[in-house]
Amino acid sequence: MVALIQEILPGVRILFETQEAILLSSSSASGLMEGAIRNCVERRCLHLVSGAFGERWRQVAADCGREPESLQVAAGEPFTSEAVDEALAKEDYEAVCLTHNETATGVTHPLAAIAQVVRKHENVLLMVDAVSSLGGIPVAMDSNGIDVCFASVQKAIALPPGFSLCAVSKRALSKARGMKGRGYYFDFARLAEASEKGQPLATPSVSHLMALRVQLRIMLQEGLQNRYARHAAMAERVRSWAREHFGVLAKSGFESNTVTCVTNPRGIQVAEFIQRLKQRGYRISNGYGSLKDATFRIGHMGEHSLEGITELLRAMDEVLEA
Ligand SMILES: *Cc1c(COP(=O)(O)O)cnc(C)c1O
Repeated sequence: MVALIQEILPGVRILFETQEAILLSSSSASGLMEGAIRNCVERRCLHLVSGAFGERWRQVAADCGREPESLQVAAGEPFTSEAVDEALAKEDYEAVCLTHNETATGVTHPLAAIAQVVRKHENVLLMVDAVSSLGGIPVAMDSNGIDVCFASVQKAIALPPGFSLCAVSKRALSKARGMKGRGYYFDFARLAEASEKGQPLATPSVSHLMALRVQLRIMLQEGLQNRYARHAAMAERVRSWAREHFGVLAKSGFESNTVTCVTNPRGIQVAEFIQRLKQRGYRISNGYGSLKDATFRIGHMGEHSLEGITELLRAMDEVLEA
């Protein structure tokens, strides 16, 4: 176990682009959303809510008995650093919680610009949900000065679900150590101490650790820059198809490279469209939450290829023509 974990940690650090502590969690990322709140927020945090996943994190904070505030933008819109700056000037918060890539709307928020304004406030932690970006879109934990950053393995890392990764800054760890009632299973201080020694805190999902060891090798062999470029190329192709036939929900310049949320101005029956594609062996998704029937989403992350995406788009053309 020690050898396995110690072999995994350097690869995970490369993915996050961090020298900070790495936590390995045998839970999906929603567990770490809760952990981030319980370890790092005593009372007030600011949630940047641009869709269903941002809203989930705010709800988690509320359900943990904290007092989360939300700054909201319409579906498809990105947050601007100016809006965050203004919110932080008005009120005191212990942390800003950002969903880097909002999977429900296909928007990638300007992380570096937002991080820069949060970093002007020494006592405000920057916590980032990178669930659907890590491994597909650069996150750059250390150069952005992120304090807590987490991701599940079943999105752009393309492993079976049920495991997640987290990186935590020294500042966040020191806050966690002083936090009362932060629990055991998601205790960041204990988790960091354990992983430092190459040990799990509780019985881990060994099969995930083994799969992660293999997948990290594959990802680093491809090269992260190549991997990001492949995601960008797939996204570009999907967007140009979407613009030709429908529309893209995300504001231009902020479209996600891992998932595209397609609008439906023609009013096609989304459920039927998805069903017909499924019969041909292709899976795309309906909209998420309130966008269920108004949009559909095409995932282009993980191990998908430009060839596979091109094939999917051809099948979509055929279904539309029929
Ligand atoms: C999928 C997703 C989550 C939830 O992760 P789980 O692994 O299902 O717990 C959170 N945030 C974003 C942005 C996601 O895409």
